[in-house]
Amino acid sequence: MPKQLPIDNPEKCPRCQQIFVCKAGSIGNCQCNNIRLNKKQTDYIRQRFTSCLCITCLNELQEESSKVRLLS
Ligand SMILES: [Zn+2]
Repeated sequence: MPKQLPIDNPEKCPRCQQIFVCKAGSIGNCQCNNIRLNKKQTDYIRQRFTSCLCITCLNELQEESSKVRLLS
C-alpha cells in the first residue's frame, strides 16, 4: 500500500492553473524552492496576484520584473 505524504497547502497557481504546494501561502512570505525575490520583485508580483504562484511562474515573473521599470 503506497504511503501518502501529507500535502501542506496544495494551491492552484492563479497564473497557469498548475497545482503546487506553498508553505507560506502568500507571495509576501514566499521563499519557495529557494527562489529569492527582492522587494521590487515581490511588489511586482503582489500587484498582479494576491496568492502565491508556482515556481515556474515565480521564475518567469522574477525575470519579467527585472525588465520592467516601475514608476513610483
Ligand atoms: Zn504558475
